[in-house]
Amino acid sequence: MADFIIETPKGKWELVCGLEIHCQIVSKSKIFSGASTEFGDDANVNVSFIDAGMPGMLPVLNKECVRQAVKTGLGLNAVINKYSVFSRKNYFYADSPQGYQITQFEYPIVGEGKITVDLSDGTSKDIRIERMHIEQDAAKSIHDINPKKSYVDFNRCGVGLMEIVTKPDFRSPEEVGAFLKKLRSIVRYLGTCDGNMDEGSMRCDASISVRPLGSNELRERAEVKNVNSVKFAMQAVEYEAKRQVELYENGETLKQQTCRFNPATGETKFLRFKEFSDDYRYFPEPDLPPLVLDDAFIEEIRNNLVELPDAKKARFVKELGLTPYDASVLCENKETADFFEEAAKGRDAKKVANWIMGDFFAMLNAKKLPLEKSPISAEKLGRLVDLISKNVINGKTAKDVFAIMAETSQEPEAIVEEKGWKQVTDTSAIEAIVDEVLQSNPDNVAAYKGGKNNLLGWFVGQVMKQSKGTANPAIVNQLLKQKLG
Ligand code: MN
Repeated sequence: MADFIIETPKGKWELVCGLEIHCQIVSKSKIFSGASTEFGDDANVNVSFIDAGMPGMLPVLNKECVRQAVKTGLGLNAVINKYSVFSRKNYFYADSPQGYQITQFEYPIVGEGKITVDLSDGTSKDIRIERMHIEQDAAKSIHDINPKKSYVDFNRCGVGLMEIVTKPDFRSPEEVGAFLKKLRSIVRYLGTCDGNMDEGSMRCDASISVRPLGSNELRERAEVKNVNSVKFAMQAVEYEAKRQVELYENGETLKQQTCRFNPATGETKFLRFKEFSDDYRYFPEPDLPPLVLDDAFIEEIRNNLVELPDAKKARFVKELGLTPYDASVLCENKETADFFEEAAKGRDAKKVANWIMGDFFAMLNAKKLPLEKSPISAEKLGRLVDLISKNVINGKTAKDVFAIMAETSQEPEAIVEEKGWKQVTDTSAIEAIVDEVLQSNPDNVAAYKGGKNNLLGWFVGQVMKQSKGTANPAIVNQLLKQKLG
């Protein structure tokens, strides 16, 4: 466990934190209507009568959203509940034209699971998932167009959401960050959520409390709502935990409350007290029957699951000999892992990993390019590594070749040729000379094979002479030994 102990002159405290994450489901249409889920369209163009809450409109469950939820549940190592129920959560707000949200309450589609997070000290920790349910997203309120008015964009209204709830297992901001990154990585691998926190398709609420180190009590908590980046979530948790410690040490108490995180100041800001739990008057949604899944549906999804980051990481360590650290960096997103695998195919995986994590990542960073826009393809990077392995160029020259590739996207071989950077270690060229020398000196070949081993030096001399001194002696030696038996 990574240590995060809040120590003051008065005592030592620990963090107790749980997360709720809303992930927008990747699907063409909304969870209960046929309207498009496209992000970034003009306001209020993707709104059906169902999304607008028109009287008499009946929701129809989108099967694709169910499939995505089951896939995600399997990716969270969780129990899939074959029986789940939709409920109405009643509340009145401008972002919900129905006057209620269709969600799942007592019977969620996904039960308990876990995600393993890797921490900077080399340890791992399991974070338990309590449940995951599916529900409709609300519309988006816009407060910054007009100082006196608020606007509402209903395009988001009715988009499918997966709400993942963890147990209060987090003891450090680092664990919170590692979890969010791992969850994002899993849903992106699965293709069930695009994980873009800055676009709001993955939003995090954190329930934060503190307690004296060593105690098991659970104190009142503050909930920080709708944090939209991994970094902000870590900052919010740290700030809020320290604020609570200060409060307790000043003899005050914390009343259960809701806060907002201000990215500009790095501080949490009080919104409202939660003295009574909200009364949403949940009841089973009368317009939708219980959702019943059969084994065949679940098994078909399970059997077609992609290889997830943990499994891929384990394989890179076991089969390709990478260190766990290198493997986890390369597996963080699927595109990088695929790029690495293509570049490493049939090659020294460690060497390829070093190139990718070193010069290659640095080049993308410097150019501010995403991997898919890389001027150097996986295949060309692999061939550059080949040129080093085959002694065509040395490591130092390879860096120069790489720099040119990054600018021109040229083939590594062409660059070496054009620049005349080839070491005179072209094995096939040397081999031709070796063959010629052996063929024109059959007597000495016979003598060598008869036991005159010291003739090897003479053969080397002949080959060097023929190549006008440009052949690599080590390769000449090696080829001669091979051919003379
Ligand atoms: Mn929710």
